[in-house]
Amino acid sequence: MAAEVISGKDLAREIKEEIAAKVPEYVKEYGRAPHLAVILVGEDPASMSYVKSKGKDAEQVGFRSTTLRLPETTSEEELLEIIAGMNADDELDGVLVQLPLPKHIDEDRVIAAISKEKDVDGFHPLNVAALWQKTECIAPCTPKGVMRMLAKAGINPEGKRAVVIGRSNIVGLPMSKMLLDANATVTVAHSRTKDLPAVTREADILVAAVGRLRFVTADMVKPGAVVIDVGVNRDPADGKLYGDVDYIPVAEKASVITPVPGGVGPMTRACLLENTVECFLRKMNKKN
Ligand code: NAP
Repeated sequence: MAAEVISGKDLAREIKEEIAAKVPEYVKEYGRAPHLAVILVGEDPASMSYVKSKGKDAEQVGFRSTTLRLPETTSEEELLEIIAGMNADDELDGVLVQLPLPKHIDEDRVIAAISKEKDVDGFHPLNVAALWQKTECIAPCTPKGVMRMLAKAGINPEGKRAVVIGRSNIVGLPMSKMLLDANATVTVAHSRTKDLPAVTREADILVAAVGRLRFVTADMVKPGAVVIDVGVNRDPADGKLYGDVDYIPVAEKASVITPVPGGVGPMTRACLLENTVECFLRKMNKKN
């Protein structure tokens, strides 16, 4: 059996085309396009490349895009002041601070300083609370992208056993909550989980968000499972990017799988654009 591959790249392209088609309507109705600002502090190569892609995506769909590159030496106070300025800017709809930040800056403080209404990453404590309370929130992009991929593949999590490996605030935890809200029976596994393969073999839907190269091997997967690979890891052997899943043998056993690259990554970026539109529309509709 060879698994069906859900192409995040293709689905993301569809989403971007839909957004791009609507931007001229927004301009007509509200007088301007959505505007996304991305702040990068320092010169971490992976962060620089993510920030560049986010700016490019925004421009491709016709948004206004601002990228602010700040030196590594930027102080927390300076960054907070810049964020306060962006919060107050009526012509700006989304503010994203690329993580991780340099060690001398308190990430939690910075995230909490972004206006909840402009928090396109969905990391603000009030957006996190809203997700857990099932009230209107900006949902974090990566798990939101995964849910969109499941829907695209016609997979309804209701009644299914879902196992999420990873319990980070940005991926594992919100992922587990979204699967729970979709009526899956969810287990969250982590580094202290005992006999992980026995746990993962129970999964109808297995989401790997670990950050370890080829961590999920075929013996950990139930035949016919849906396997979602969130991980992004560089293999020192060839310098290329791979997921957390040992793709070829797992694809032989799974019914559905997502590739890396071209899977969850592009969907995360597409959902960032969607979140920007959401923030823009909420703001414009509040005004009218
Ligand atoms: P993270 O904060 O480092 O969390 C990793 C999680 O994996 C932790 O909960 C950790 O458990 C768990 N873990 C580590 N070793 C384990 C083991 N041996 N057995 C079981 N669980 C283990 O990472 P993250 O930010 O969630 O990201 C996870 C991966 O997704 C990374 O590769 C990251 O690059 C990728 N990512 C991709 C996208 C995308 O758009 N494609 C977006 C975000 C992140 P403990 O809690 O016990 O430490």
